[in-house]
Amino acid sequence: MEATDVTRQYLERINSRREFIRITGKWSFMAGVISLPKIFGGISLGTSSALGFSSGDGFKGGVSYFGNRDPKHVKKDMKDIVAHGCSFVVHTFSEVDYHYYTKTMKEIVNISHDLGLTVYIDPWGVGGVFGGEAFSRFVMKNPDKTQRLADGKHLPSACLNQKPFYNFMKRWVDKAAETGADVLFWDEPHFYIPRNVWRKKQGPAEWACRCDLCISLFRERFGREMPKVMDKNVIKFRDESIVAFFEGITEYGAGQKMKNALVMLPEENYLTGVSSWEKLVSLKYVDIFGTDPYWIIFRKELDSYIRDASRRVIEISKKYGKEPQMWVQAYKVPAGRESEVRRAIDVILDEGIRNIAAWSYCGGAPMNLKSDNPNLVWKILGEAFLRAQRLYG
Ligand SMILES: [Zn+2]
Repeated sequence: MEATDVTRQYLERINSRREFIRITGKWSFMAGVISLPKIFGGISLGTSSALGFSSGDGFKGGVSYFGNRDPKHVKKDMKDIVAHGCSFVVHTFSEVDYHYYTKTMKEIVNISHDLGLTVYIDPWGVGGVFGGEAFSRFVMKNPDKTQRLADGKHLPSACLNQKPFYNFMKRWVDKAAETGADVLFWDEPHFYIPRNVWRKKQGPAEWACRCDLCISLFRERFGREMPKVMDKNVIKFRDESIVAFFEGITEYGAGQKMKNALVMLPEENYLTGVSSWEKLVSLKYVDIFGTDPYWIIFRKELDSYIRDASRRVIEISKKYGKEPQMWVQAYKVPAGRESEVRRAIDVILDEGIRNIAAWSYCGGAPMNLKSDNPNLVWKILGEAFLRAQRLYG
C-alpha cells in the first residue's frame, strides 16, 4: 500500500471518529453503553460519557499527562488514568513534540483512544503564549516577532498580533489534528505576565506588548501614540488582540473537525488574560470554557475561590451555550493538604459543573512542581472521580 493511501485512511478514520463524537454530542439525551462500529476497532467505550460530549449532565473527569514519550509506559499510565475515573486525557503537545515527536504522539493518541479516552491536545508553552513549562523555538528563531515591554525590553513570548506566529499556530493545529486528537485545549492564553504582576508590585511600564507592530496597529485603531503607561485604550487593544487571535484560530481548528476548549487563568483580569471572559466565550467556535482556580498556589480560601469561579463559568457558559469545565490543582500539593483535592471536586460538583479536569497525572510526579505525596494526591483524586462517576453517570 502506498504511504499516501495509509495516510488518507488514517485521516479518514480520525474524521469518522470526530464526526461520531460531534453527533453524539448533539444527542445529549443519549445514555448507556455504546459499541463503536468496526472502523474504531469495534471497542466498547462503556457509558456514552466516556466520549466526552454526550450525556449533557454526565460526569467527565480528565487529567493532563506529560513527561513521557515512550508508548509502552504511556499504555500503562493510560490504563491507570482510566482506572482513576477519567474519561478524557489532556496530552501536552509542545514545540519539542511538534518538531520531534509527531509520530510518537499519534501512537500516544491511538493508545488513549483504544482505552476509551477522549483526547484533548494542549499547545504547552507554545510561543510562550500558553501555559506550560516548555521553551519556545519560535521565539528563539523569530526575535523580531516577539513581545516587548512598554520600555522596549525584549520578552520570551511571541506577539499575538504577528502574522507569522498566527501562521505557525495554524501549522501547529494541522499537526495536532494529524495526531487524531479530539479537542484543542487552549490553555491560559495571555500577553506576557511580568513576575511583579503576581506580586502586585507592577511598575507602570511592566506590560506588553509595545512592539513596533503593536505601536502601529494601536495608532490605526485609536488615532494616537501608544502610551507607555497602560490605560483604558491599551487594555482594550490587548483584549481585542487576544479575541481576534482566538476568533481565527478556533475557526481554523473547527475546520479541522476538532472541538475547541478554552481555559483562562482564574479571575477576569486584564493583567493576566482579558478584562471580560465573555468576549472570548461568545466566540462561535469555542465549545468548552473553564478556568483553573488553583487555591494552593494562589493562596486563596478554597471554598469561596472555587465556588465563585464555578458560578461565573456557569453563568457565562449558559449565556453562550458552551460546556462549562473546571480545573483542580493536583500538583504542588503540600503534605497534609491532600484531602483538599477531594473538597475542591465536591465544591465544583455542588455548583453543578460535571466536566472536571486535574493538573496533573499522579500528583505532578514527573516535575519539580510535584506534590509532597504525589501518589496520595492521585489516589484521592481517583476516589473522588470514581465517586462522581457513580453519582452522575
Ligand atoms: Zn506586539
